[in-house]
Amino acid sequence: MINVENLHKSFGELEILKGISTQIANKEVVVVIGPSGSGKSTFLRCLNGLEDATSGKIEIAGMELTSPKTNIYQLRQHVGMCFQQFNLFKHLTILDNITIGPMKVLKKSKEESEQLARELLKKVGLQDKEKNYPDELSGGQQQRVAIARALAMKPKVMLFDEPTSALDPEMVGEVLNVMRDLAEEGMTMVVVTHEMGFAREVGNRVLFLDGGYLVEEGTPAEIFGNPKEQRTQSFLSKVL
Ligand code: ADP
Ligand code: MG
Repeated sequence: MINVENLHKSFGELEILKGISTQIANKEVVVVIGPSGSGKSTFLRCLNGLEDATSGKIEIAGMELTSPKTNIYQLRQHVGMCFQQFNLFKHLTILDNITIGPMKVLKKSKEESEQLARELLKKVGLQDKEKNYPDELSGGQQQRVAIARALAMKPKVMLFDEPTSALDPEMVGEVLNVMRDLAEEGMTMVVVTHEMGFAREVGNRVLFLDGGYLVEEGTPAEIFGNPKEQRTQSFLSKVL
C-alpha cells in the first residue's frame, strides 16, 4: 500500500529525514515511535503530501506521490489524516463537519453524505451529537468526530499524528478504541503515538525514528522485547 524509498526531507540547510525506506502492506498497522524532534510528524506529512520530499520516492496505493505528474489533491483523498489538534470547523455542526468533504470534494449529494455521516457517527459512538457544535463536545469526542470526518472520504490509508496527546487521560481510551476497531476492520494505518500499550496490542510493526533515521523496525514483540539498537533501548528505557 505504501512504499517509501530513501526519503530525504530538508528545511533549508537542516536535514530532518535522512534516507527513510520502508514498505507498508495493505491492512497493516504501523506504529511510529521516537523522541521529540526525531522527524515523526515530518515523515507523516510527507506521506500525504503536506510536505514535499526533498528526494526519494513515495508511492501510495499505486500512485507515485513524488512524481510531478501526480495530482496531489486526488491522492490526498485516499490518505486520511488525524492530528493532535482536531481542527474541526467550529462554525459547523458535527454532521456538517463530516458531510462537507464528501459534498464539496467528492460531489456527493447531501442525502448520501448525511447518510454516510450518520453511519460514521454511530461507528464512533456519537450518533446523538450530530446537531451539536465542536465546542459543545469533549476533546475525546471531538477527536472521534475528526476520525469520522477523515473516514467520510473513504481513504485507503489513515495517518494519525499523536491523536491522543492533547487529551485528558480519561479520554484517551475512547479514541484508541475507535482506532482499534478501525484496525480490526482492516484499515491500513500509520500511527505516531506515545501509547506503547496501543503499539503492542494493535501494531503489526513498530518503526523507531531517531535523528531523522529509521533506526530500527520490527514487530512489537521484537522492538519492545528485544530491541537490537542501543538508541532504541535507551529510548524505551525512558518511556516504558
Ligand atoms: P517529531 O514529530 O518527531 O517531534 P518533527 O517532524 O515535528 O519531529 O520535527 C523534526 C525536526 O524538524 C524538528 O527539529 C523541527 O524543529 C523541524 N521542523 C519541522 N517542521 C519544520 C519546518 N516547517 N521548518 C523548519 N524546521 C522544521
Ligand atoms: Mg510530532
